[in-house]
Amino acid sequence: MSHADFVHLHLHTEYSLLDATCRLDKLVDKAHDLKFHSMALTDHGVLYGAVDFYQAAQEKGIKPIIGCEVYVAPGSRLEKKSSTGGRDVYNHLVLLAQDQEGYKNLTKLVTSAHLEGYYYKPRIDKEILAQHSKGLIALSGCLASEIPDAIMKDDLAKARVSIDWFKQILGPENFYLELQNHGIPEQAKVNKHLIPWAKEFGLKCVATNDVHYIEKKHSHAHDCLICLGTQAQLADSKRMRYVQEQFYLRSADEMKALFAEVPDAVQNTLEVAEKCNVTFDFKTLHYPVFQPPETFSREGYLRDQEGHRPSPDRAHRHREDRVHLLLPHLRGLHQPRPQARCCVRGAWFRGRFHRHLLARHLERRPDPLRAALRAVSQS
Ligand SMILES: [Zn+2]
Ligand SMILES: [Zn+2]
Repeated sequence: MSHADFVHLHLHTEYSLLDATCRLDKLVDKAHDLKFHSMALTDHGVLYGAVDFYQAAQEKGIKPIIGCEVYVAPGSRLEKKSSTGGRDVYNHLVLLAQDQEGYKNLTKLVTSAHLEGYYYKPRIDKEILAQHSKGLIALSGCLASEIPDAIMKDDLAKARVSIDWFKQILGPENFYLELQNHGIPEQAKVNKHLIPWAKEFGLKCVATNDVHYIEKKHSHAHDCLICLGTQAQLADSKRMRYVQEQFYLRSADEMKALFAEVPDAVQNTLEVAEKCNVTFDFKTLHYPVFQPPETFSREGYLRDQEGHRPSPDRAHRHREDRVHLLLPHLRGLHQPRPQARCCVRGAWFRGRFHRHLLARHLERRPDPLRAALRAVSQS
């Protein structure tokens, strides 16, 4: 079977929650119909769909490329301030894993974006990207990305500095200038700068369609989803909206027609796909190696944690409870209750018995309270 000579490298599935409508099964069916031999997954800020996408694509004989459209904080991911209601706290960037190391780095980045950088969106920053850039390919991104944003604001110097930074960090062979054409005038302006800059900086361009739904006719349904996601009404003229009927899974021919002036940008998508070869191993068990606390076997500790036996904490509480019950008796020995006076000998025996129990108990289960309790029991 002859394959399409274009690969989608920027694609959002249903795992871009409230932003894209592509169901995985229907997506891979359509990709198969369009003869795509490879296809990337680049959900917004997350990798939730990676395994499902990988399996669904492979079932259809399509090579899955695992990626993510990450959010990048303009400064530090740890800085969480905004003067514009969140619009100025992140840019987009497309990352694709080339190999296992790249995939591991991608998971590290996405995890740290959620655990450390979350502010409106899960955000990485350039510092952490530089630390975990090995095995990754970056595309410069959509209009919401750093370089296009600077071009749109006519800050060409800043755009050039950014290009240089990504080139240095990822290497010229792993950083591509992304061209999009959804009929948006700003995209034409951005492309006008990126195409000559690619030559100047020794980089390559890639053409992408920012896929958010499968068929052109799904545009309205997608628009409704965006309204749900942004809590707006369809009739609201000021709401966020995507240009109609542009963000679907275009065929290779449509992409070639759209980028007729830069055929290399279409061709280069095949080169990127060729470089990306992440495989998931479903046969080996990947449980972390866990050393249980002393005195527990691994199985014993698991049972313990599941509640089949008292955990150390519960044992501790249990011990405390028992001691708590015993203490009044011990005290009673030294300050006999009225009835004890009638039977001093009985109380003495009861006291000795409890002291004996407590001593045995403490022998068997040493704990930090031991010294204090022993002092009480012997006082
Ligand atoms: Zn984007
Ligand atoms: Zn996107």
